[in-house]
Amino acid sequence: MPARILDGAKLAGEIRMEVAAQVKALASSGVRPGLAVVLAGHNPASEVYVRGKVKSSQEVGLYSEEHRPTERATTEELVALIGELNRRDEIDGILVQLPLPAQVDAKKVLLAVDPAKDVDGFHPLNVGYLSTQRAGLVPCTPAGVMEILKRSGIPVSGQEAVVIGRSDIVGKPAAMLLLNQNATVTVCHSKTRDLPEVCRRADILVAAIGRAGMVTRDYVKAGATVIDVGINKITERSEFDRFFAGNKKREESFLARGSTLVGDVHPEVAEIAGAITPVPGGVGPLTIAMLMSNTVKAAILRRGLR
Ligand code: NAP
Repeated sequence: MPARILDGAKLAGEIRMEVAAQVKALASSGVRPGLAVVLAGHNPASEVYVRGKVKSSQEVGLYSEEHRPTERATTEELVALIGELNRRDEIDGILVQLPLPAQVDAKKVLLAVDPAKDVDGFHPLNVGYLSTQRAGLVPCTPAGVMEILKRSGIPVSGQEAVVIGRSDIVGKPAAMLLLNQNATVTVCHSKTRDLPEVCRRADILVAAIGRAGMVTRDYVKAGATVIDVGINKITERSEFDRFFAGNKKREESFLARGSTLVGDVHPEVAEIAGAITPVPGGVGPLTIAMLMSNTVKAAILRRGLR
């Protein structure tokens, strides 16, 4: 039986509506949560992401502003800009779009963000809060993964969860969130032995690797829930055929655009998984929705509101 498709776009829409209602409620106490986005240089993909974040902020009623230091910006200049945003009370969330230009010390810049305004959840203090189960700001993509599981009624407690990928942005916080909800968690990476065998233990398999369609049916236990975090652009016809042969709708869009997106999970996995997130339209939309949610959360925590 084909897997149940976990519709991230629909869930993200629900979250955005809830956030908009919270923003409206805060307005009655004179508070409008504000998000500042810092985008240094001209990375085309980053520009698309930032446009999406600013547009979504406006739709839910947040105040938002964009800062555009040049490609030649120095670490000191960015740290000074962050310092200024830290001091402004109307700014509740600061997002530094990665990657930063090569000459910039990204760790230093991220460390400069006030942890109370760190809506990406990358500051070591928030990482510590997450691992010690204290209230703090959680990275948006893994937080989105947990929302998909919760809102789709997929149990986590007591389940075997396997996370492929150990990045600070996705893999590690996803593993910690699953552990905090009482899953038995295994974290895999490029040095893991017998990866397909380890993955086949999973009731919940999270793939955050950055390799198109790497997770094939050999990695998946029948009926498992598969969360595909990967976003990979493919442009070669041979690659298209490897993943989507016979999929007429995809083919039309591939031919029109010259590219299509594929996750880290091969589409064939949908034939044996119990539930699966699509790419696009799975985890991706949740990431922006959780950024909106984190900005409101930051406003509430910073201001001591309920
Ligand atoms: P990353 O920092 O490059 O980390 C990739 C991880 O995958 C690393 O831990 C790496 O292991 C592991 N890995 C690489 N090749 C492997 C292999 N052959 N076998 C087992 N593990 C392997 O990537 P990331 O930032 O976590 O992102 C992962 C994916 O998620 C990317 O496709 C990215 O585009 C996507 N993403 C999506 C969203 C969204 O909103 N949906 C947000 C963020 C990222 P080592 O540590 O051993 O090198």
